[in-house]
Amino acid sequence: MLVKKIIGREVLDSRSNPTVEVELILANGSKQVTERGIAPSGASRGTHEAWELRDGGKRFLGKGVSKALKGVEKLDKSFKNKKFTQKKFDEKLCGLAGPNKKSIGGNTTTAASFAFLNASAKLQDKWVYELMGGTVLPVPFFNVINGGQHAGNKLSIQEFMIAPYGAKSFKEALRWGSEIYHTLGKNLVLKYGSSAKNVGDEGGYAPPIQHSEDALHAIEYSIEELGYKGKVGIALDAAASEFYDNMYNIDGMSLTGPELIDHYERMAAEFPLISIEDPFDQEDFHMFAELRKSLNHIQIVADDLTVTNLQRVKRAIDGECMDTLLLKVNQIGTVYEAYETFKYCLSKNVGTMVSHRSGETEDTTIADLVVGLETNQIKTGAPARGERTAKYNQLLRIEERLGKKAKYAGKNFKKIGKRVSVFEN
Ligand code: PEP
Ligand code: MG
Repeated sequence: MLVKKIIGREVLDSRSNPTVEVELILANGSKQVTERGIAPSGASRGTHEAWELRDGGKRFLGKGVSKALKGVEKLDKSFKNKKFTQKKFDEKLCGLAGPNKKSIGGNTTTAASFAFLNASAKLQDKWVYELMGGTVLPVPFFNVINGGQHAGNKLSIQEFMIAPYGAKSFKEALRWGSEIYHTLGKNLVLKYGSSAKNVGDEGGYAPPIQHSEDALHAIEYSIEELGYKGKVGIALDAAASEFYDNMYNIDGMSLTGPELIDHYERMAAEFPLISIEDPFDQEDFHMFAELRKSLNHIQIVADDLTVTNLQRVKRAIDGECMDTLLLKVNQIGTVYEAYETFKYCLSKNVGTMVSHRSGETEDTTIADLVVGLETNQIKTGAPARGERTAKYNQLLRIEERLGKKAKYAGKNFKKIGKRVSVFEN
């Protein structure tokens, strides 16, 4: 596939921050297509993530991406009129971007890598999931209460999610998610007043709650009110690096690592918890492993700990720190590198949950990616707000398009995915 042109554009993300959009023209013989990719952006970013290139200065309060757009011009010069596969395209991106993607930014490479993937599929008259050959729809982890860096309330834990693993299809899971979201909103207003329905960065409510247990109670109550007990699990992303300062400052307490394990154990004993992401600081490999031993029926997900980076994932798997990788393409900067990290997890029987960022856009590539890789789990925010529903609605379309071939991951959400031949060469 021949790259004809690459252009960059500064567009806005869901937090009104600029981000990089790449538009790529790809050709095969006389056929030519144009497709786009847009980079998302995190708030609770891991220290070891790929570099996000921003301008500094006054324009857009320092968040402009005009330097990154200069990087896109460089890409145009060096890729134009050359043929690539996804692997070769992303490898060349890595070469140009240098260590940690510092020279042109991981935001630039992510947008370009997404654009190439989307254009390759279109050139072959396929959807991305179809190009990858996947047929399994993931269990969605809907973020219904926001805290931490994503909200202006006092909750230490960043994300309280619901996972409808007992539904029969993705379509049904999305309906349950919406019903629980509305019911929870109603219950929060009854208990905490009308402002409790205000939302945080990922579309979940940001009620004036201080203690995790109160958030968990409200969610559990809403699930039960609708009759979904035993069919919908609760998941957390503690994003604990954000409340770690030698001690873990959570729920009005200042806890040591072992004390925080006790705290998680109490929550797990009281509520239907199925998954905890980033329960400890991003350098606290040891405590991840300790928690995994003591809560072995609950999935432990690594995000800031591993940042989709193969070297850190190897360390975390060797140390038995994780059951599941949180896969965020922009943490590492290209689809191919993210795939390599995923493939390593696959070889070690470790699961993968595909993820959005808190600063998102209308780009839906990750919805196709999760079906293509058959990783069986995705988190992309609340079942509300356009940048989140863009992905869930794309999954609805994929399920409908797959027809009888579609399978919903359901209770098998911890199964681990498959290799994809289009990414191998
Ligand atoms: C996360 O921590 O999993 C997340 C999606 O948030 P952010 O994008 O802010 O890192
Ligand atoms: Mg996280």
